[in-house]
Amino acid sequence: MKLPGAAKDAKPGNTKAGGGRESNLILGKARTDRPTREEAESAIRTLLLWAGDDPDREGLVDTPARVARAYEEFFAGYDADPVEMLNRTFEEVEGYDEMIVLKDIRLESHCEHHMVPIIGKAHIAYLPKNRVVGISKLARVVDAYAKRFQVQEKMTAQIANSIEDVLQPRGVAVVIEAQHQCMTTRGVHKPGVSMVTSRMLGAFRHDPLTRREFLTIIGNPASSVGA
Ligand SMILES: [Zn+2]
Repeated sequence: MKLPGAAKDAKPGNTKAGGGRESNLILGKARTDRPTREEAESAIRTLLLWAGDDPDREGLVDTPARVARAYEEFFAGYDADPVEMLNRTFEEVEGYDEMIVLKDIRLESHCEHHMVPIIGKAHIAYLPKNRVVGISKLARVVDAYAKRFQVQEKMTAQIANSIEDVLQPRGVAVVIEAQHQCMTTRGVHKPGVSMVTSRMLGAFRHDPLTRREFLTIIGNPASSVGA
């Protein structure tokens, strides 16, 4: 979807969540005292040893370095700033005030309890008041929170809350459906089970028709969601 109007930076007055304690709560800022890459690689070597393998054999020699690089991708969200992403909004939308839905956004995260992947999709809707945001920004906000150690419930709330705080729309809805590898490949070993979480704010929480319209558009992953 292409929206009319030019992107521009929101005024400082609109960036309610742009600074201070509140934004740190939303962002979960990255630590600044991280270990060195060398220390990270040596920790991975220790895990290889602990699993029972020989980190010096040919196939594993470069593994600690590869895993460290993979971690930079898996956890890029700690260096992302969702508030800044959402602040690039369009105001010339000819009074468009209907629901905007972005569905089936690929979601790749990691469970903070077992450090294994959570793979699924996110659906986001909001009812704009004056401003809309480029749809790619919504997808990037999902990544900003997903590419961290997460629990699905918290991630769902963080995505919805950041959209609410920055765009101040008439309502926000976020639904995430995901499979947790800690359930499928270990523990209870139950493949095919999806967990569905939702966070409904504003009109999506108070108006059953609005909520139902959204759930119909996204294919009703859980018809009871938010009811
Ligand atoms: Zn887990």
